[in-house]
Amino acid sequence: MRLANFIGGSFAPPRSGAYLDDIDPSTEEVIAETPDSDERDVDDAVQAAKGAFPSWSRTPAAERSKLLLTLADLIEKNFDELAELEAKDSGKPLELARMLDIPRAVANFRFFATAILHEASEAHITDTTAINYTLRQPLGVVGLISPWNLPLYLLSWKIAPAIAAGNTCIAKPSELTPLTAQRLAELSLDAGIPPGVINIVHGLGGKAGRALTCHDGVAAISFTGGTVTGAAVAANAAPRFKKLSLELGGKNPTIVFADADLNDAFRTTIRAAFWNQGEICLCGSRIFVEEPVYEKFVEGFVRAAKELRIGEDIGALISAAHLEKVLGYIELAKEEGGTIAAGGHRIDRKGYFVAPTVITGLGCECRVLREEIFGPVVTITPFRDEAEAVAFANSTRYGLSASVWTRDLSRAHRVAAAVESGTVWINTWLLRDLRVPFGGMKESGVGREGGFESLRFFTEPKNVCVKI
Ligand code: NAP
Repeated sequence: MRLANFIGGSFAPPRSGAYLDDIDPSTEEVIAETPDSDERDVDDAVQAAKGAFPSWSRTPAAERSKLLLTLADLIEKNFDELAELEAKDSGKPLELARMLDIPRAVANFRFFATAILHEASEAHITDTTAINYTLRQPLGVVGLISPWNLPLYLLSWKIAPAIAAGNTCIAKPSELTPLTAQRLAELSLDAGIPPGVINIVHGLGGKAGRALTCHDGVAAISFTGGTVTGAAVAANAAPRFKKLSLELGGKNPTIVFADADLNDAFRTTIRAAFWNQGEICLCGSRIFVEEPVYEKFVEGFVRAAKELRIGEDIGALISAAHLEKVLGYIELAKEEGGTIAAGGHRIDRKGYFVAPTVITGLGCECRVLREEIFGPVVTITPFRDEAEAVAFANSTRYGLSASVWTRDLSRAHRVAAAVESGTVWINTWLLRDLRVPFGGMKESGVGREGGFESLRFFTEPKNVCVKI
């Protein structure tokens, strides 16, 4: 299968004529060719998006909403095909794509299709002299850059609010997982979304992605990806004064107190550690357990990790390069003095599979506990008391999410307030409500997405002051 860019409602080959191999991580076979786009393709897309903006931004919200709802229905109608494409492209288990990725893509379009109908803006009354009201106007052409771990889920999380708010967009999916983006482009045509409102340019981050962040015709960049890439995106976008939203990496703590419902904590912590083979920015990769229940917890956790089925519970890692990175961290854990209590090796079969790996015996100063591995690798560390748990949780440069397990309500609130993190889950993990602010503190990001936060990001607030 040879993919094409989607520009101005038509499918176009890359200007360079060059393509990149798209590999199925579970078989290591080439399954498609992705356009290796460059700044010329990005410029074509910007011109198409610019052309579509005046009419789309004036289209009534109710009409935009209807088109987004139609697109959601079409995604649902093509559910099986999209789930299969996503699993094949990313290496994740098919069941997970069916349970998580595709339903969320549907939900994203439905959520923002209806959110736009409920948006209100503020008014400020200046005594008896003036009324100020806030106009929220779309920004124009926006650039949306997303990673490979949740391809359609994250792409739609950006496209839906951007176009619901009246912008036109250029999306650059990861070149490692282009298939569902291509299908989305086709479905957007079927849904009747006007040409140029959604444009998709495939290709490498350092080439097509960079061109998008540097293009003067792009008013804003919404980026989800790694922290190092986020810094490069900011370095290009900030001097051009583009509005910028950065959703970056994480090294998330799971804190289990001795009074927690251990069965529940245990079941969820396993999922938080290994879902999507640990390739979710919110995965709980550093587990801290209070000393009285530490031994029992580790024993049960290791047993459960060994029982996970490769291919069904644990998919393949995204690429050969990522496999090497993850295996490198397992070696580093040994060098740093850790004990491999489960896994620790590549699976002897075709595909980039790594056994679910549990590491004990390492302290928070170790690199394995400070750097994002983004694979099926977790550490378990004991802690003495609440103060130590919070200090351990806050000992990295990241601050994306945390999960805290306790039956003590006061402690739950205290720890939630003290942990440096954009999201804190109490006695749960990855329970998402699309209305809440979502994002990271510290080096996990800048800004928030979700609900009205997304609509605010994709609009310019303009104050209008009327003298009475
Ligand atoms: P990545 O390497 O940072 O890439 C993300 C996207 O940026 C890809 O489309 C990539 O294209 C593109 N890109 C790379 N260099 C670029 C540049 N110089 N300018 C513009 N775009 C560029 O991240 P990844 O490896 O795909 O994804 C994993 C990371 O994403 C992890 O760190 C994870 O924690 C993070 N993540 C965060 C969230 C969140 O909500 N906070 C959600 C999911 C994932 P290429 O694929 O061609 O390199």
